[in-house]
Amino acid sequence: MNLDWTPLRVELDRWRRKGMQYPIWWRDDDATRPTEALDELAVLSDSVGVPVHLAVIPRDATMGLAEYVRDRSNLRPVVHGWSHTNHQPAEKTRGEFGENRPIHIRCEEAGEGLRRLTEMFGDSMTPMFVPPWNRIPVSFLPELAQLGYKSVSTCHPRENVEAAEGLLQINTHIDPLYWRPSRGLSAPQLIIEKTERLLKKRRQGKLDNTEPFGLLTHHLAHTPDVWEFCRQFWLELTEGPFEIFEHP
Ligand SMILES: [Zn+2]
Repeated sequence: MNLDWTPLRVELDRWRRKGMQYPIWWRDDDATRPTEALDELAVLSDSVGVPVHLAVIPRDATMGLAEYVRDRSNLRPVVHGWSHTNHQPAEKTRGEFGENRPIHIRCEEAGEGLRRLTEMFGDSMTPMFVPPWNRIPVSFLPELAQLGYKSVSTCHPRENVEAAEGLLQINTHIDPLYWRPSRGLSAPQLIIEKTERLLKKRRQGKLDNTEPFGLLTHHLAHTPDVWEFCRQFWLELTEGPFEIFEHP
């Protein structure tokens, strides 16, 4: 795949000259068990030197996944909803934790997700909540903090450092996957331009550069060119003045 990374390289040069650094992180969604695609993800993460926060669906997570993660310190499990079930009415956008469901049931599920994955993954578990479809009502955010979560992750540049008291907002910014009509790589030059644009705004102080700059992927849905794009994306970003984000 022949891509022109020049716009991004020029931007990263400006960072270098200003003596600035950007924090980076990687989130990958929908893991439940070891698969060939998960192998590909783990190997890629290892080769580019960027750990992956693996958003695991608690209800369906297998002990096989726990064993798999145990041997790989570059895979860091986080909580991906409870069962990844859409509970929204047909005419609404999809979501698992929408306000149409009683709050005590949603709390029970989000709490059980954290308990179950902590039991399975032990110390490697990061208490981050990733709502399926990246959607969560604002009214539910304080509940997450109460349940013991330390952060929540959706998409787009965050507006506030905390989503609720004691709950960090750590979003993703670049998603290379196109879902409809069929899965594949989004227009790659546009993703490169978007990356350059977002980093430029950070450099200029127009966006929060303390939020780690995140790539969002879905290993089970990747075509070969999505994998190749991710590989090139990380190689380019780690050529610049980056630092790896470590969850507090
Ligand atoms: Zn998902």
